Amino acid sequence: MPKFSQASFSKLSTCHLDLQALFFEVIKYFDCTILEGYRNKADQEKAFASGNSKLHYPYGKHNHQPSMAVDVIAYPINFNDEKMGMWFGGYCLGIAQILKNEGKMTHSIRWGGSCNGLGKLNTPTMFNDLVHFELLE
Ligand SMILES: [Zn+2]
Repeated sequence: MPKFSQASFSKLSTCHLDLQALFFEVIKYFDCTILEGYRNKADQEKAFASGNSKLHYPYGKHNHQPSMAVDVIAYPINFNDEKMGMWFGGYCLGIAQILKNEGKMTHSIRWGGSCNGLGKLNTPTMFNDLVHFELLE
């Protein structure tokens, strides 16, 4: 059974308990790594500058404490593998729905590959963030 590295574990521990519950469940079946949880001001501005975020600090979901967003990618890591990103994103959404139904999560999840969180996929021309998962208020 796959397990998070210490680095992933520390990043995930900066996130809301719902995100922890979700990815501690996902990792049992689908090997993945936590790229980022909480982002401080410097981290957020770096993400903005590199195009990984459209928001300035403190308006990103990664800027809450605990973080209301987490970036996660499946192994083998390949940011250009859109099919794997889609597969992993859908898998995580399914697990999130089950955990919510079982009362193990209180929030719903919005995935970066979906433009409105309601199952419509982003088109390539839209902001595409397949590694991003956030909690809806
Ligand atoms: Zn993100």
